[in-house]
Amino acid sequence: MQVYLDNSATTKPCEAAVKSALAVMNEEYGNPSSLHMKGFNASVLLENSRRTIAESLSCEPSCVYFTPCGTVSNNTAIFGAVNLMKRRGNKIVTTAFEHPSVARCMDKLSQEGFEVVRLSPDLNGEISPDKFEKEIDGNTILVSLMAVNNEIGSILPFDKIKAIIKRKKSPALLHVDAVQGYMKINIKPEKCGIDLLSVSAHKVHALKGCGALYIDRAVRIKPYILGGGQEGNICSGTQAMPNIAAFSAAVSELGGIGQRLEKIKELNGYTRRELLKIPGVSINSPESALAYILNISLKGIPSQVSVNYFSQNGVFVSAGSACSKGHRSDTLTSMGLPVERIDSAVRISFSCQNTKEETDFFLKLVNTAFSELSKK
Ligand code: PLP
Repeated sequence: MQVYLDNSATTKPCEAAVKSALAVMNEEYGNPSSLHMKGFNASVLLENSRRTIAESLSCEPSCVYFTPCGTVSNNTAIFGAVNLMKRRGNKIVTTAFEHPSVARCMDKLSQEGFEVVRLSPDLNGEISPDKFEKEIDGNTILVSLMAVNNEIGSILPFDKIKAIIKRKKSPALLHVDAVQGYMKINIKPEKCGIDLLSVSAHKVHALKGCGALYIDRAVRIKPYILGGGQEGNICSGTQAMPNIAAFSAAVSELGGIGQRLEKIKELNGYTRRELLKIPGVSINSPESALAYILNISLKGIPSQVSVNYFSQNGVFVSAGSACSKGHRSDTLTSMGLPVERIDSAVRISFSCQNTKEETDFFLKLVNTAFSELSKK
């Protein structure tokens, strides 16, 4: 039996996504900028795909720009926003547990002289809107926060920030990294006053190599990738049409958020209850976390040892996030958890394709991990 419980790292592409990508590669392989029929057909597919992603975000298609991945969406949003706003202030407010594709941009901006304030989560992995309220001021030009933390699943108050920015009479633009929340919770950027929002295709059963950036129509950021001017000059480079078509097909196939979330909540609740019966297991994700992600620690077993043990037995989970290979989790560190708990943490992340039988198989292995690995 093989059980894939690492869906926050990436998901298995759905059949509809694979079929669409193949059709583009085999038949409609034109460049959407070309002026002949194959180019025209590709451009129709591109705009249809844009409409699908826009519908999923309840926004206008003209606000959606395709990018090569969530990382490029985040870099484009952050450097674009700072470039646009740098004459109006010097302060950036973000969190201490952002994904590296945001955190490393912040390191660079800090080196360049911007004041970067990174708000720490509490022991539960949550950050209250009050913390943002205290820091956002007239000198703040950008607030950048994730919608859902990729390691523990906590949901951040991204929908409350614009009201604070307005109340504080701040010029700040609001960027939300929605890579882990997209298609899992309702995120409507226009309604929440989000100026820039990043998503990624491979987290929603599409292919790697595709993302999107929502940009509010009143915000005119400058591109940081220069070239042929594709995607409204926001992200130059020939669009990856197989990936874009697959992205659109996967999003259409996923449909509504609610029914899927109910199923995942049941799986998560069951797994949590059963895990808590096993001595030595502690749960790092707050009760209020998005049910797709469950972070646990297995007392006395280093993360990599348990990940290897599970893998050898056919279960695929992650030690923290897939991007943090080999270094101590920034997320769990920023929560102030004890080192032993951080170093024994494992992230389980579900998708709708998982079943109760699969979680039972995993739970059995957690039990045997304690008996077998503590012998060594
Ligand atoms: N932001 C978050 C919260 C993520 O979890 C990830 C990937 O794990 C990214 C951004 C980067 O997305 P991509 O892999 O598409 O570059």
